[in-house]
Amino acid sequence: MNNNKRKRHNKNDVSKKNQKPPSNKEQEIPSASTAKRTKSNEPSKSSNFFEKMRARLSGGHFRMINEKLYTCTGKEALDYFREDSSLFNLYHAGYRTQMSNWPEQPVNVIIKWLKKQSPSFVVADFGCGEAFIAKSVKNTVFSLDLVSNDPDVIACDMANTPLVSSSADVTVFCLSLMGTNYQTYLEEAFRVLKPGGWLLIAEVKSRFDPNTGGADPEKFSKAISELGFNSVKRDFSNKMFILFYFTKKEMKNAKRKEIEWPSLKPCLYKRR
Ligand code: SAH
Repeated sequence: MNNNKRKRHNKNDVSKKNQKPPSNKEQEIPSASTAKRTKSNEPSKSSNFFEKMRARLSGGHFRMINEKLYTCTGKEALDYFREDSSLFNLYHAGYRTQMSNWPEQPVNVIIKWLKKQSPSFVVADFGCGEAFIAKSVKNTVFSLDLVSNDPDVIACDMANTPLVSSSADVTVFCLSLMGTNYQTYLEEAFRVLKPGGWLLIAEVKSRFDPNTGGADPEKFSKAISELGFNSVKRDFSNKMFILFYFTKKEMKNAKRKEIEWPSLKPCLYKRR
């Protein structure tokens, strides 16, 4: 694969970095009813009603797509978005709204960490969404997601990427272990990583709360260690998410036994 083609955005894209993601309002599709204004240019009662309805509908759509992604395999998710790629934009509009309620966004914590590492590190961002990492660091970043609306994003199921084996220094999963076959994504990250390379996983805290049906973080770490990683650090300090840091073992595990992967419960967002 041509490395440069998949490189981070070039200088011409700097403006994009500073662009604020559009607010939910900007995402709403204007219609005759929203154009209807009273004389004082205030929205009329009916336009308020339609705006509220639209926001509610797009929130409902987001929750539906979100639930689908957490309850199917990566391959099924790929087929789902291939049928209608506009669902992807709908999903990310809702995702941005959800994230705006979080005190800290995990992707920003990962970006801060990356900025402290060598800029020569090659990064693979598994389930990149809007590719914030590629837009924020100087490193070469391969951004992977089910849909590509951006020439710098590689569209694929991340269980099966076109990346070369042992080519990345860092692999990132930021809230992207969604599929029921999540372990195959981690196996793919293992293949893509250089020995000694980093695996960073940020996941919603509630998915790791055994008191509410979540997985035991200990068991999750153990399974990843058995895949061939060393657990370096676990960061529970953030209110909404956990961050796991692993490095790929220099030596392959002699004989890999059957790994017991804990199931990760879906992260379903409540209606607000
Ligand atoms: N990491 C980004 C986006 C998180 S949303 C961020 O932190 O901003 C989760 C993303 O994972 C979605 O864009 C979803 O499409 C992607 N994803 C889920 N399963 C995937 C799969 N099997 N292959 C590729 N991308 C996947």
